[in-house]
Amino acid sequence: MLKPYHADLHMHTCLSPCAEIDMTPREIVAAALRRGLHLIAVTDHNSAENAEATRRAAEGTGLVVFAGMEVTSSEEVHILALFESPDGAGALQDVVHRNLPAGENDERLYGHQIIVNKDNEVMGFDRRLLIAATGLNARALVDLIRSLEGVSIASHVDREAFSVLSQLGFIPEDLRFDAVELSPKVGRQAAERLFGGLKRFPWVSFSDAHYIRDIGKRVTTFMLEEATFGEMKAALASAGGRDIFWE
Ligand SMILES: [Zn+2]
Ligand SMILES: [Zn+2]
Repeated sequence: MLKPYHADLHMHTCLSPCAEIDMTPREIVAAALRRGLHLIAVTDHNSAENAEATRRAAEGTGLVVFAGMEVTSSEEVHILALFESPDGAGALQDVVHRNLPAGENDERLYGHQIIVNKDNEVMGFDRRLLIAATGLNARALVDLIRSLEGVSIASHVDREAFSVLSQLGFIPEDLRFDAVELSPKVGRQAAERLFGGLKRFPWVSFSDAHYIRDIGKRVTTFMLEEATFGEMKAALASAGGRDIFWE
């Protein structure tokens, strides 16, 4: 039997220089549970190093945490990559890190990039330029995510920067996203009016939280048999009556 599962699959931890330092595994899990979420994903810029810590922080709570990343393509398109296990995210991360520009993160300019464990203890600082664009184009990234059995979603297509529409003007036929994401800034009706041309993709909407207070600010409800990655993927493909709602 299909049941509703509330999901927020786009949020940043303290590893993203632009996120607040309170975005730690324990605080994120606590906030997600307070807001009645069943599924979350950790999607830091160009890195997945806090994803496993967040999954472990959720063990025993019933909250399901997917590994993920928000990759920046060479065209400065943000792409959400979601995976069932840290292995897929790790494989993507290896390629992404090899394709980041040389140079170090300037913490005074961009903020800290903090790697933590499930107990919120600081394990180190990532010195890479995570906020930069990678040398990989959007098509190569979408194809790579697919080959790693992940799900690729065009991030916040309504935003005026770092979205596939702001950077390319349209979504080329050969860019095989599994879904497009609308940001919390746009409501369902306005989205239907403005982005009707993207109806060939399933639509999802998540918080893109950089602050604890924003977790669950926008939720997509998936009608699933159970809260698993395979079920979520099946819902994106509208398989077996599985469905997706947000407003
Ligand atoms: Zn983004
Ligand atoms: Zn984001």
